[in-house]
Amino acid sequence: MTLEHYSEPVLEEHYGEQVYTNKLTDDMRREHCMCLHCAKMTGDKETNCPIAQQFYELCCEHNNAIIMTRCKSYVPKKEKSINQNH
Ligand code: SF4
Repeated sequence: MTLEHYSEPVLEEHYGEQVYTNKLTDDMRREHCMCLHCAKMTGDKETNCPIAQQFYELCCEHNNAIIMTRCKSYVPKKEKSINQNH
C-alpha cells in the first residue's frame, strides 16, 4: 500500500460539529457511492436495504460518511425500472 496519493483529512463542520473529512472521497461520495445508485436504497426505514440502513444509523450516531464500493446485493436503479416495465 502506498500513501503517495493519500489526501490528508481536514476539519470541516458537518451537522453542527467539526469533523475530520477526507475531501477527495467526500466529494466523490454522491456521484460514486453504490448505495446512492442502488434500487434497494429507499430512504425509508421500513423499506430500506437493511445493510444500507445499518450504515446510515452508524453514520448518524458517529457523524461519519461512507462510500460503498463493493456489494453483492447491488441492484442498479436502471435495472429495476427496466424490470418494472415488463
Ligand atoms: S444492496 Fe448494497 S449497494 Fe444496494 S443499498 Fe444495499 S448495501 Fe447499498
